[in-house]
Amino acid sequence: MDTIKIENKYQLLTYEKFPFVINKGKGCYVWDENGNKYLDFYGGHAVALVGHCHPAVVKAVTKQLKELIFYSNVVYNSQRALAAKSLIDLTKGKFASVFFCNSGTEANETALKLAKKFTQKDEIISFIGSFHGRTIASLSITGFEKYHKGVGSLMPNVKFAQLGNIESVKKLITNNTAVVILEPIQSIAGINEAPSNFYIQLKQLCEEKGIVLIFDEVQTGLGRTGKMFYGEHYKITPDIITLAKGIAGGLPAGAVLVSKKILTSVKLNDQGSTFGGGPVICAAIVATIETIKQKQLVNNAYKMAQILINKITKLPHVIKVHGKGMLLGIELDIPSKQVQTILLKEKIITGTSSNIQVLRIMPPLIITKKETLLFIKKLSLVLKNL
Ligand code: PLP
Repeated sequence: MDTIKIENKYQLLTYEKFPFVINKGKGCYVWDENGNKYLDFYGGHAVALVGHCHPAVVKAVTKQLKELIFYSNVVYNSQRALAAKSLIDLTKGKFASVFFCNSGTEANETALKLAKKFTQKDEIISFIGSFHGRTIASLSITGFEKYHKGVGSLMPNVKFAQLGNIESVKKLITNNTAVVILEPIQSIAGINEAPSNFYIQLKQLCEEKGIVLIFDEVQTGLGRTGKMFYGEHYKITPDIITLAKGIAGGLPAGAVLVSKKILTSVKLNDQGSTFGGGPVICAAIVATIETIKQKQLVNNAYKMAQILINKITKLPHVIKVHGKGMLLGIELDIPSKQVQTILLKEKIITGTSSNIQVLRIMPPLIITKKETLLFIKKLSLVLKNL
């Protein structure tokens, strides 16, 4: 079967793709249809948080598939109860409740709705270079003009500040400001991170002004940056956290973590989702969280990042390594696409970004020292020959 030809013909052509077919994955590796083995430092777009086909996730999902594939939120379900408790327990009492949905964009739309209802205000402050999703409200708060072109009216009352510049946020605040939404590390923009005091000042500012602070942790959440949640790096807690990507071990899931404060304004029928919180997905969420805790993957993400940052910083063509944990951007003095293409020939998958000089790496948190050193060795050889 000519998979590439068929997919190009029948799937809407909205994606740029690598020119090969992946039908199998295990741990940090995937295999193409010719049996070639690739080290996955792209992590299936930051989704393979616990690696591909993690045995604990496979076991939990397989068991659940035989018991009950789906029933909606109109009844209670033991896997949903466990998933909700597991997620909230991770926050150590800082969040009270979770809303389940199916993707990052839905999580962000839900967060905006809850914040507007809580404040009874309408204006949103987001950041230039942030990415929050492709449905209309999430698109409206995404800080890239290129994604806004040609789609007509977006959601009104959205303004964009500069990441790292607290004065630019202050200038945009009015009596009608409901929300500040932040992608703590701007991934697609090229792993942009603000200085630590920015996050602390932003939290203080929102508290002073009664503005709801949302952290979009769709990429950074559940340990990817070397802490369970990004705010832990600076001992700050937003009012709402949105999660998706790897939280269900590769199955589609989104979650919105809601603080006690926000909870006070939530009423029956304020939000809903047919598939959100389904039993199979929730079994996968529970298994993913258990794996992260049992295998101490948050700590592993931190440790492997230190090795990567120390060694890669010294390689030729490298200007700086940005980011934290398993969300790193290697800033080069040459186009990252060139390096990505050669790495692919060496059977290593990496990502590029909107910044043409930044090569993005988002490997699974289960990455071993051996795999980390293998990546560094291959990258080193590629860069030395350019
Ligand atoms: N927020 C961030 C930070 C993301 O990186 C993404 C997707 O890449 C989204 C939101 C949207 O998530 P989804 O594609 O699951 O809707």
